[in-house]
Amino acid sequence: MTQLPESSSAPRSDAVSVKAVDKTFDTRSGQVQALTSIDLTVSAGEFVSLIGPSGCGKSTLMRLIADLDQPTAGSVTVFGKTASQARRDQDYGIAFQQAGLLPWRTVAANVGLPLELHGASSSARSARVAELLDMVGLSDFADRYPDQLSGGMQQRVAIARSLAEKPDLLLMDEPFGALDEMTRERMQTELLRICAETGAAVVFVTHSIPEAVYLSDRVVVMSPRPGRIQEIVPMALTRDPEHAEALREERAFFDGVTAVREALHTGSPVPTGARGVENR
Ligand code: ADP
Ligand code: MG
Repeated sequence: MTQLPESSSAPRSDAVSVKAVDKTFDTRSGQVQALTSIDLTVSAGEFVSLIGPSGCGKSTLMRLIADLDQPTAGSVTVFGKTASQARRDQDYGIAFQQAGLLPWRTVAANVGLPLELHGASSSARSARVAELLDMVGLSDFADRYPDQLSGGMQQRVAIARSLAEKPDLLLMDEPFGALDEMTRERMQTELLRICAETGAAVVFVTHSIPEAVYLSDRVVVMSPRPGRIQEIVPMALTRDPEHAEALREERAFFDGVTAVREALHTGSPVPTGARGVENR
């Protein structure tokens, strides 16, 4: 009798689990408490946005999940592994505010880097790179170098790179910040399509309330000094990839915008039941 691999019967672990995390930075002028008592679970396939004023610790939290920095207290796991193991296994794609491209590599070679690191064949790589560049509208720029592109174009290269391996988790810190409004809306819709297709979970930082509402299953509203989770607002939008654009004009969308805006502005305490609500 053939035995099934364990993973096929085991429940899929959460994409991200952050438990009782504090982060304090030691600086020359003293300690900066960037995050305090952060508890957050992102389910497999779930889209969660972080929103809050500048300096509330959004990027710090992303860096802890990506193992680019370590918490002062508490724990972070990614698909049930330690953050550092998940980083070594390259379990996720990253697109951060600064595009982080390698200046000596062409656009195509930057996008193909994760595939190269994982030993994909050169023909498989070039097919996938072509597909990704087409998706972000940069097919004509494959042979250019990053410093020959605008900031918005560099960001699109970084987004394409983060999607190269169809990861189960995407960590995105203001990835659309340098894009014009039209391109931004197109990239948002494209991102939702990709998530629907691949079942990827996303942790997404943004300053834009409509962007958070349009994309997310839950919006995490953070407050500063020290950064903490003020409220988690579940979204009740029905996302149909066929009618993704129409969603921006629907009642549920505006209700979501109002709910997040009120959470940001009133600084109301966490309502019981709102925290940890799972949408999927
Ligand atoms: P956000 O992304 O929400 O704007 P950050 O996570 O970048 O906020 O920063 C949160 C707080 O932590 C800020 O007060 C910032 O100055 C501080 N901070 C972030 N990184 C460092 C660091 N490496 N050293 C000292 N302070 C830091
Ligand atoms: Mg930031």
